[in-house]
Amino acid sequence: MNNLMTDSYGRKMRKLRVSLLDACNFRCTYCMPETATFSKAHDLLSADEISLIVSNLIKLGIEEVRLTGGEPTLRSELVEISERLSEIPLKRLALTTNGFLLKKNLSALRRTNLDSINISLDSLNRQNFLKLAKVDALEVVLDAIDSALDLGFQIKINTVLMKQNIFELEDLLEFARSRQIEIRFLELMKIGVAINSFSESFISAGHVIDLLRRKYKMKQVNTESDSTSFKYQLENGTRLGFIASESMPFCGNCSRLRLDSKGALRSCLMQEHKLNLRGVPFEDYAPVIKQVLKWKPNDRIEKIEQPMYQIGG
Ligand code: SAM
Ligand code: SF4
Repeated sequence: MNNLMTDSYGRKMRKLRVSLLDACNFRCTYCMPETATFSKAHDLLSADEISLIVSNLIKLGIEEVRLTGGEPTLRSELVEISERLSEIPLKRLALTTNGFLLKKNLSALRRTNLDSINISLDSLNRQNFLKLAKVDALEVVLDAIDSALDLGFQIKINTVLMKQNIFELEDLLEFARSRQIEIRFLELMKIGVAINSFSESFISAGHVIDLLRRKYKMKQVNTESDSTSFKYQLENGTRLGFIASESMPFCGNCSRLRLDSKGALRSCLMQEHKLNLRGVPFEDYAPVIKQVLKWKPNDRIEKIEQPMYQIGG
């Protein structure tokens, strides 16, 4: 049955992104349209449904789960979902969040198996943060990062580096160094609203690396073969990574599937085709997985109109 999770290119699916909802409390300019509408709470997968689907996918070879959204901390059942998933034999349970509502959940999450959190942070400048996320939340997010570190979570920072925040590159690196955490610079992707502003905002990882080489000695660090990022360490110990989805796509090594907040399974962030797993008995999973894997692109799909907050980032 485990072969089911290996596609015709030999890629074995072992990581699952689970979107808990599509709603968000930020309005990041590259992610949320002004007129965003969100799913009704009663349409979202329940904690029971998420736990059942994830258990079934684990039987087929999934090993790691990352909870995401929209903004996963907006789900009142976040801790319950994390508790339920902690009862399942996962190698890793992780969370991606904007950090705004994280602090109040931290102690309860710490008692679950969820131990790694990626926190998005596009700016360390209050005005620029407000401009990019449309919420004046910098201090709250920084406090959440420090609280999560104090509680012993493994933290990484995710920064979409664009023309609007490239001037903060050194401050962001210094922030990561001061906390001894890894910072990952994401290239802006042609997804949803970002397609329209792409040419005026995009900066490639290669360009950033050129900028950094002028100032720092950088040593490349090994990563897992299916990692989305490639990593460096600076002489002063700063750890940084790049997720260069546009200029250096990693589709050939991708091991990810995505479950959206209503139970549809996708093979790729950029692939609009999806199939429902909600209410599907385990014995009927095989044709769904086979079809979804057939749709998994081996070459990068150029763009997708559907916004990331709806697919699950
Ligand atoms: N709301 C949570 C957050 O922001 O961390 C989780 C969901 S969000 C969609 C996941 C990640 O996707 C964030 O780091 C965000 O910056 C990134 N993202 C959203 N739209 C993007 C785009 N068009 N290109 C690159 N990254 C994007
Ligand atoms: Fe919300 Fe995350 Fe999208 Fe920003 S990137 S609007 S925080 S879902």
